[in-house]
Parts: sequence; C-alpha cells; structure tokens
Amino acid sequence: MSPKKHTMKYKKPAVESRPKPAPAEEEKSKKTAAGLALVRGMKDILPPESALWREAHQVFERVAGAYGFEYIETPIVEAASLFIRSLGRSTDVVEKEMYLFEDRDGGKLCLRPELTASVVRAYIMHGLQTLPQPVKVWSAGAVFRYDRPQAGRYREFHQLGCENLGEKSPVVDAELIALAYNFLRDLGIPVVVHINSLGTPADREQYLVELVGYWKSKRTYLCEDCKRRLTKNPLRILDCKNDSCQPVIAEAPQIIDWLSDDSKGFFMRVLEYLDELSIPYVLTATLVRGLDYYTHTVFELYEETAEEKSQNALGGGGRYDLLAEHLGGQPTPASGFGLGVERIMSVWEKRRAATTPAAVPGAVNVFFAQLGEQAKRRSLYLIEELRREGISVHHNLAKSSLKVQLEAANKLGATHTIILGQKEVQDGTILVRNMDSGIQEIVDQKKLKQTLRRLLGVS
Ligand code: AMP
Repeated sequence: MSPKKHTMKYKKPAVESRPKPAPAEEEKSKKTAAGLALVRGMKDILPPESALWREAHQVFERVAGAYGFEYIETPIVEAASLFIRSLGRSTDVVEKEMYLFEDRDGGKLCLRPELTASVVRAYIMHGLQTLPQPVKVWSAGAVFRYDRPQAGRYREFHQLGCENLGEKSPVVDAELIALAYNFLRDLGIPVVVHINSLGTPADREQYLVELVGYWKSKRTYLCEDCKRRLTKNPLRILDCKNDSCQPVIAEAPQIIDWLSDDSKGFFMRVLEYLDELSIPYVLTATLVRGLDYYTHTVFELYEETAEEKSQNALGGGGRYDLLAEHLGGQPTPASGFGLGVERIMSVWEKRRAATTPAAVPGAVNVFFAQLGEQAKRRSLYLIEELRREGISVHHNLAKSSLKVQLEAANKLGATHTIILGQKEVQDGTILVRNMDSGIQEIVDQKKLKQTLRRLLGVS
C-alpha cells in the first residue's frame, strides 16, 4: 500500500476479522491428570519463545528511548472507578470485560484492562504537570479483559504503550505513530496505519444527532448488539464486525463532514507529517476505537500483507486531550498508543521463521563437551570464562560419552561444540567443532575466547 496524500476521502475500510474458531488449546483450558489447569484465556510463555518475547521488549525500549520516552511502571491492580471514569461506563471493556473484585476491606478494585488511564492517574497524583512538558513515558505489562478467548484474543495479554502528556500538537500524534511504526519495522513487520479523527465533543454532538437519526432509519437491518448500542453507544455501531450491519455502516454519515475547521486543520497536519515521514496510512471513517476518552486523532496499526485480508490490529491509540481534567487533574492535552505483544509475537515469529530460521536470541551457540575427570574440572573454569564474555554456553557435565554429548549439542541447536579431552588438558589446547560442516580446529586455550568471538560474529 503506498502512502496516500490527504485528500480527506475515505477508502473502503478494511474490516477487522470476525471471530475465527480458536485452536482447541486456546478455546478451553486443559486439565492435566494432576488436576492442574491454566485459567481460560491465559497462557504461559515458554522458551524459546520467551527469548523472542524479551527481545521484542528490548527493541521497543531502544526505539522508545530514541524518541525520548522514559519508563514508567504502574500497578496491575487499580481502583475500578479509574477505568469506569476514563473509558466510559457504556464501553464494552467496562460493561463486560473488566476483572472486578472486592478487596478484603470492601474496596472495589480491578485488574487493569489497559495502561493509559493508570499513567494519567500517576501523572496527576505525582504532580508531573509541574515538570517541563511534555512528559513522555513508555510502559509495558499485563492487562486483563474478560472477553471470549479466540485466536489472537486472550483474557490476560500484554501491551507496550507510550504516552505523551502535556503537548497539543499534530506533530506529537505523527511522532507517536512513527514510533510504533518504526518499532514494528525494526522487527521486520511492515504495517499500514488506519487513521481517523473524532474531533472534539462539540463536533461529535452535531454528528451524533445525524448518526443516530440514520441508525434509527435503518434499525431493522442492524444486529441485536447494534440495536442495543443505538441508545448506549451509537458511535460503536460503526465498528461492528457483523456482516449484516456492513451495508448500513457503509452508507452512514462520516464524522469528517462534521469536524470544525480547527479540528479538520489539526487532522490534516497529522496526515501531512505522516506523508513527510513516508508512513503509509488509510483514512478509515469507521475507526472510532472503543473508549470514550479519545478526541481528534485515532489510529490502529495492521500488518501489511500482499492481499488485503482482514486481520487483528497489532495496536491502536489516539489523542485524549480531556482525560486528565476529567480525572480531576489540570487540563492536559495528551496522546498515546498501546500495542498488543501477543499479536506482534505471532506475526513476528511467522516472519522470522520465513527469513532467519536459526537466529533465536538467547539460544545456545556453544556446547562444551569434555572427556575425563581432569577435563571436566578444567572445563568449569573455561566455561565460566566464556560466559563472562557474553557467550551462551551449554554443557552436560554429568555425561562422559562424547557421542551422547554431541547428540545433546545437536538437539540444542549449538552452532559450535568445544571439545576438551585429557590430551588437550595436558598441552593447553582445545578443539572447536563447527556443527554444520563437522570441521574441527585445534585452538590454544588462551585464544579460545577470541576464536569463538570471531566464529560467532560477537563484537
Ligand atoms: P485496544 O486499545 O483495545 O485497541 O488494544 C490495543 C491492542 O492490544 C490491540 O490492537 C491488540 O493488539 C491488543 N489486544 C486488545 N485486546 C486483546 C486481547 N483480548 N488479546 C490479545 N491482544 C489484545
């Protein structure tokens, strides 16, 4: 998809997929014979995937740092009222998906369903508005939504988020989009940005009158969920994935026609900056995001694929200029996004498998095999020395057969095996075997580190 100039003409929206049937293990939590079970919609992250998981976080930290964002951590448990006030009482997240519980003293708590509201709470409570503005922070962690588990949809999932608080400029929005875009590009995931503007509450007031009138005239064609949304959250009907609603949605009035000149101007500038940054985007009239706190720019990021096929968003965000004030703070223009780690991992793993089959970070590069008691003792020292150099070394000192040790090295996918026998202990040498070619070289033990660094391409 090539970058679009801001003609303010919306393309036909790409629709997020309807729920696919989930793989069996995601659909149900399986019980083991011992009666152990994962809670439905939750999952363990095991090696080797866990190494990639950490690497994705490291890449994000590097990219966010390059854009001047600092790390913030907020608690997983918050007062339920924080999200009811921020996201809106009639949003799906608050109405159906929050994990609510009472503390022992009766306090109404919840597991956070997203990261933004917590960051804004922290910003207000710790007086961060007194610092030079904007305050730019990134965060990462588990969030919880009691949704129906399916492919790419969990009840515990993880987000990487960035928030820019205290500055109202379209550059901020474009830069946040660029940050998310470049992070995904650095992982080798090409993305396209879907973007829209929701304007101000005043813009929306006019638009909603028109929209509700339109929905009412088409009421009989709407699905049952949308009929309910008609009174509670008419904007969300635009976001409905139900096939039967699509023809009605396609003809619905578009918010862009109700934006004030100021709001339109703001949006145009965001698009101009995206053009400048060569970030491909699609104007998407139906993009409203699910939460009440958004004003002006809203966006979502999708993997760019050869065919325009429906898929899950990798992340989304937007501007929320009124949220801080709404929560009792000073008026604070702000903008941010949240990316879904599980969805990113699933795309990233597929793409990595296609391009770089062997390169798994944290995986074993070197296996250390030894023969004989003296060699075993000496190997302890040499292994430690290599690890101090940052080289990942595995071994099986409990085994003495070389054949068994080489098999273990193969199984672990070691690129090189180091072999230390009696003779090598005596003459101060060691063998380094390339596991692909089977070629072995004899190396002076004192030069082992340099040799491995060269062979492994470690700087
Ligand atoms: P949202 O603010 O709801 O759009 O969430 C931001 C991102 O989090 C989405 O674009 C997804 O990548 C991810 N996400 C949202 N809900 C889930 C879920 N139930 N399971 C996994 N990822 C999710």
